[in-house]
This record gives sequence, structure tokens and C-alpha cells, in this order.
Amino acid sequence: MKRIGVLTSGGDAPGMNAAVRAVVRKAIYHGLEAYGIYQGYQGLITGNIQQMEAGSVGDIIHRGGTILRSARCPEFQSAEGQKKGLEQLEKYEIDGLVVIGGDGSYRGAKAITELGYPCVGVPGTIDNDIPGTEFTIGFDTALNTVIDAVDKIRDTASSHERNFIVEVMGRNAGDLALWAGLAGGAETIVIPEDPIDMESIKVRLLKGLERGKKHSIIIVAEGVMSGNEFAEKVKELTGIETRVSVLGHMQRGGSPTAVDRMLASRLGARAVELLLAGKGGRAVGIERNELVDYDIIEALSLPHKLDLDIYRLSKELSI
Ligand code: ADP
Repeated sequence: MKRIGVLTSGGDAPGMNAAVRAVVRKAIYHGLEAYGIYQGYQGLITGNIQQMEAGSVGDIIHRGGTILRSARCPEFQSAEGQKKGLEQLEKYEIDGLVVIGGDGSYRGAKAITELGYPCVGVPGTIDNDIPGTEFTIGFDTALNTVIDAVDKIRDTASSHERNFIVEVMGRNAGDLALWAGLAGGAETIVIPEDPIDMESIKVRLLKGLERGKKHSIIIVAEGVMSGNEFAEKVKELTGIETRVSVLGHMQRGGSPTAVDRMLASRLGARAVELLLAGKGGRAVGIERNELVDYDIIEALSLPHKLDLDIYRLSKELSI
């Protein structure tokens, strides 16, 4: 192993830069050359590739987004696209690849692995929906962004005695909604992992009204339905008026938290260690604050597990 490549792919997440920095610096530390592949799999196909020095990743540890930029690249889902990508890796004599991204990007890494090329996946997404790790890079920052917004919404909710619905990201995973709901003190949390029960939501809201509650915050994960749709359902069932706040893409931006910078630095470095040890086809992660790695093909077949204890606790504390 003489040259290592790194790319970021799919939805950007705060902390991706810290991970790129870790891969590049760790590679150089061990005497390897590091190559940045720009625009994800798109740049892999077109050969948008540049050598990176230790200084190329200076001053980025605190920056959101990704200096390598990201892209969605449907072409890489075809055998033809993957072949073109591998040809570029051969042309640049890159011996191993680190892919930082979400589950779509992992499927790309799996395809590369199945073609016999050494590749390691690093989980980078605010959705926290990658199997084989308790946390993904970007989740903690997005969580803090959502909580900051919910705290602000709470101020106006209590001043004006209003009920708010906050729609948060997470694709088909409820982690962001659940954690933000518990940490932000939401009265109700609606996540895709639990079939929606409008009757119990109705009872809960009306009970709150009865005991004199003047305002409430309901967090709805985008994977269930839109905040506006949910507001209509609440109105239909209870007559309660709600205001809707859709947080949108602000959740993906911002300077990564210390937790995400630490996670990104550790996982990025571990990915290089694995490639150095001749272990391609792995997905790195963190469990109980220990770094772990799994076969990437197996990891992708595991279901993502939401922490049900936290879900139960959120219900107990929001009575
Ligand atoms: P994320 O990685 O955030 O989940 P996407 O789902 O958009 O984002 O995936 C990012 C990219 O990964 C896609 O644009 C595509 O290039 C690649 N990809 C997704 N699925 C596959 C697949 N089945 N095989 C090969 N590449 C894939």
C-alpha cells in the first residue's frame, strides 16, 4: 500500500472535513501518499483526483460541509460506471480507498469491494442510520442544531401559548427526532420506527389541555410525514391549531461539535490503519466508545437499530 484515496459522497455532514483530514494526515504519517477524489463517485469516474499534502487539510477541522465536495452519481450504480471508477484508481496507482458517506455511499463501497478492490467505509451522515456503528459523523452536530432551534421555538411557544410541530430530517430513521425530542423536552415524538397511532397522540394532547398545558412541542421525523400533513391530522382529530416549523437543510450545516470532530478523527485514522493492515472491505464504527469494524457487505445487511430504551424514556418523561 503506497497510495490511499479518499472521497466524500451523498448528503454532506458536519465532521466530514475532520475525517478527510484524519485520513490524509494518518496516511502521510505512515509514509503513504494521499489522494483526494473530488465530487464523490462522480469525480472517481471522471478522474477529478488530486494529491493532498498535510497542508491541504489544514484549517478544515472546524468547517462544516466537505472540501472534497459531494455529489449524487447514479452512473456509479451501474457495472459500467464502477468499471470506469476502478480504471481511474488504477491510472493514479491508488492502492486503497476510503469512502466517507451514508448508506448509499456504503453500497458504492460494497460494489468496489465485490470487484476485489480494497475499500473502507466511514459513516458520515446526520441521519445516524448506518448499521455497524452507534453513531455516525455529523449526527451530534445536527442534534445540537435541532435542539438550538427547538429551544428558540419553545420561547415563542410559551410566550404565545401555542402548539408547535417541528419537522426534522433523518430520512427513514427516527434517531435525530428521538434524541432531539428527549434532549429538547418535546411533549410528543413521532418516528418511523413506531407505527403512528393518532388516537394515542390525540388522547395525550387533550389530556395536556385538560391539565392546563398552554403549549406543546411535537417533533415529527420527515420519514413519517411532513410537518404540515401532521398539523392537518392534529387539527382534524382534536381541533387544536398548531404552527409548523420545517428545519430543513440548516440541519446539515455548521461547524462540527467536539464529539463529531473526535469521532471523525478516530474513524478516519482507523480506516487508514485497516488498509495498511491489508484489511479492505470493512466498515468502521463506534460502539460503547470503542472503535469497531465489520465486513461491509455484512454490515449493509444488518438492520439499523433505534435505541428503544431512549424511546421509552422519552415517553415516560413527557407525561
Ligand atoms: P448517502 O450516501 O448520503 O446515503 P446517496 O444515497 O445519494 O447518499 O448515495 C450516494 C451515492 O452512492 C449515489 O449517488 C451513488 O453514486 C452511490 N450509490 C448509491 N447506491 C449505490 C449502489 N447500489 N451501487 C453503487 N453505488 C451506489
